[in-house]
Amino acid sequence: MAYKYTDNYREQGARKRLVDVLRKKGIGDEHVLEAIGKVKRHCFFDETFWNQAYRDIAFPIGEGQTISQPYTVAYQTELLHIRKGDKVLEIGTGSGYQTCVLLELGANVYTIERQEKLYHRTKYVLPNEMGYNARFFLGDGSVGIAEHAPYDKIIVTAGAPTVPEVLLKQLKIGGILVIPVGDEETQKMVTILKVGDNDYEKIVLDTFRFVPLVGDKAW
Ligand code: SAM
Repeated sequence: MAYKYTDNYREQGARKRLVDVLRKKGIGDEHVLEAIGKVKRHCFFDETFWNQAYRDIAFPIGEGQTISQPYTVAYQTELLHIRKGDKVLEIGTGSGYQTCVLLELGANVYTIERQEKLYHRTKYVLPNEMGYNARFFLGDGSVGIAEHAPYDKIIVTAGAPTVPEVLLKQLKIGGILVIPVGDEETQKMVTILKVGDNDYEKIVLDTFRFVPLVGDKAW
């Protein structure tokens, strides 16, 4: 991949240490850890903040939004059980960091962002500056993207008040939806496996704090 950014021993070492931190925090899927170890997170930061890029923290990316904490990205990705070639809908493109992790795992990613500036920036930066190719969409992802459904996996990277029914309809049977659900302060990570046309298995997991999912089937 043709990166325009430098990636020297300092960044590489910091990335390895980040992977170790995530392993210690309980991320066990080696494929996910390997993907995190490949994505050059400092490329999403202004050079002034490169010393922050491999800390396990969320960071402001403009438009009042954040690049997700690596632990959160790894946690959600692990729950998706990505297989090479999976068609994945990501709702909330943001910086595109999560998108790159999914791409490193071999997913075909359809990613949608409602904020125009972020959409344009990420749609440009990922393919042109980092060599990552996804399908980018601008709009309200709380209603999914019906014209490209069904998906093997759907990941929502913003906090929703409830699980939008319409997203469940856009999953294949055997597909998985991972979505944080709660109030505007905190959300529980929810994973839903579609076992039949109208049959779902739901598991409620740990508490997180996401920016709100804003839209027709959201806040
Ligand atoms: N995972 C991203 C990353 O690694 O940079 C961070 C995502 S950020 C926590 C959540 C994103 O969801 C924001 O960019 C926000 O604008 C977007 N968002 C919120 N509601 C949305 C909606 N209805 N449709 C699409 N994007 C939405």
